[in-house]
Amino acid sequence: MTNTNLQAVIVENRKRCICEPCPSYNECMRAGDRLLFCITGKTGNCTFGMKGCSCPTCPFRKARSFKKAYYCIRGSEEEQV
Ligand code: SF4
Ligand code: SF4
Repeated sequence: MTNTNLQAVIVENRKRCICEPCPSYNECMRAGDRLLFCITGKTGNCTFGMKGCSCPTCPFRKARSFKKAYYCIRGSEEEQV
């Protein structure tokens, strides 16, 4: 995906991401306004614990036929081959 396409996907879909209420989503991610990790990959310098992941119930993940989880920690669907 080109950078322009990636940005378009993020702008279009970020409201569909349900990471924010997830117990693993933390202040560092919030401060960076980071969402859609399944597309964008791991959070930059944030440290975190695996306290649960809401991705398996996410409609965006289902719509894209994604199968993985903990994208903020493990990387995007594409990266988690
Ligand atoms: S699958 Fe996870 S990272 Fe991707 S949009 Fe849904 S909640 Fe966000
Ligand atoms: S990718 Fe999964 S674990 Fe990470 S913040 Fe989103 S829902 Fe939570």
